[in-house]
Amino acid sequence: MSLTADAVVIGGGVHGTSIAWHLAKRKMRVVLLEKKFLASGGTGKSTALVRQHYDNFVESALTHASWKYFVNWKEIVGGDAGFVQSGFIRTVIPKEIAALKANIEMHAQIGISTKLISAREVQEIEPSWDVSDIEYAAYEPDSGYADPQATTLAFADGARDLGAKIRQETGVLKINVRNDRVVGVTTDKLGDIAAPSVIIAAGPWTPHLLKPLGIGVPITCERHQVASFILPKDVQTRVCCIDGAKEMYFRPEGHNLILVGCGVGAKHVDPDHYNEGIDEAHIEFTAERISARIPKMIEGQSQGGWAGFYDMTPDEKCLLGELPVKGLYINAGHSGTGFKIGPAAGLCLAELICDGVAKTVDITPLHWSRFAQGKKYFGDHPYSTSWHTGHTEKAKGES
Ligand SMILES: Cc1cc2nc3c(=O)[nH]c(=O)nc-3n(C[C@H](O)[C@H](O)[C@H](O)COP(=O)(O)OP(=O)(O)OC[C@H]3O[C@@H](n4cnc5c(N)ncnc54)[C@H](O)[C@@H]3O)c2cc1C
Repeated sequence: MSLTADAVVIGGGVHGTSIAWHLAKRKMRVVLLEKKFLASGGTGKSTALVRQHYDNFVESALTHASWKYFVNWKEIVGGDAGFVQSGFIRTVIPKEIAALKANIEMHAQIGISTKLISAREVQEIEPSWDVSDIEYAAYEPDSGYADPQATTLAFADGARDLGAKIRQETGVLKINVRNDRVVGVTTDKLGDIAAPSVIIAAGPWTPHLLKPLGIGVPITCERHQVASFILPKDVQTRVCCIDGAKEMYFRPEGHNLILVGCGVGAKHVDPDHYNEGIDEAHIEFTAERISARIPKMIEGQSQGGWAGFYDMTPDEKCLLGELPVKGLYINAGHSGTGFKIGPAAGLCLAELICDGVAKTVDITPLHWSRFAQGKKYFGDHPYSTSWHTGHTEKAKGES
């Protein structure tokens, strides 16, 4: 006899477990299937910045709605997401200051606590930084970072407590469709599971699951590295930062470490077989980059690092919503920034599935069909610099 559920969730990262928790909260009978173990994908490799600064409305609104979970985690979900309210700074190059100001205004309208600060104020917050290339930055005192594994496990534990079944080491082989309606999945260990709703939160494996249904989604897989350094004794750095001016991001870890990400990632990697370690040359490259912002880091010591993957889309925004098969939903393609919107993306999908419309945030700009229509979703005041745009590498003649 095959199993039945109201909803099957494919993937046990932050997104799959969030959706499972939100649907279980709506009293749905949920089965979550994870082919390896919880947080074994991109989630487990995340640096998990929870900043609210984006150059588009939808991601900022989703992050702000998620931030409310992180600051009240115990009361809302239970357990501990390891959220540290460190503050966050976004730097830009001088020609992007107008965009920075416009984006800060947009964020304030959403309700995000944010303000424009001068280079002098940046220096007051972070005395160890060299701010000579900065004129203005955005500052979010309430943002920070979380623990990605703890967040995922807290959602999974909460979902179990609400009656959801979480099955690890159980892969979905096939999504079953009849008359343009999803009817369930076929698994490698549990046979068929019948369900009127199936949610795919399978990161870079998503295209593989959809191809047999004739649905193409432009998600590719890139390898990205994170370097870890011991701070010299007399250096402290408190905030998380997306340093557009130096094309990197960094955040503190524990009492004396700093994690730094930068550089263009290797494209089209196989998420099942890739080098999860950090390259020696990349440590040196990253050390130079962070020393340009925090000069004393020249005395910092490498603690190695790791590599994870980003599930990239052409506009670097996720696919969130219903697919062209009734009852089949997608939440994937987070392009290296999706951890922080885990809570609100799960909430919005639960609203869509249970109420027919996502009320917390209008997610229609993230609908999968934008790519089929040749469209991309960008904000009104986009930045050209990020931490993986690679302008600096190109300027140095590297690939
Ligand atoms: C180095 C690095 C740094 C990052 N830093 C940040 C950051 O600072 N802030 C931020 O917000 N985001 C960050 N991200 C991005 C963020 O971590 C991801 O966008 C997010 O975690 C993706 O979660 P997910 O649940 O969609 O996918 P994943 O965590 O990849 O989960 C997908 C799961 O699906 C499972 N699966 C696949 N196929 C099947 C199948 N057929 N059957 C069953 N299970 C299946 C996989 O095993 C996997 O566990 C970073 C990512 C990396 C790699």
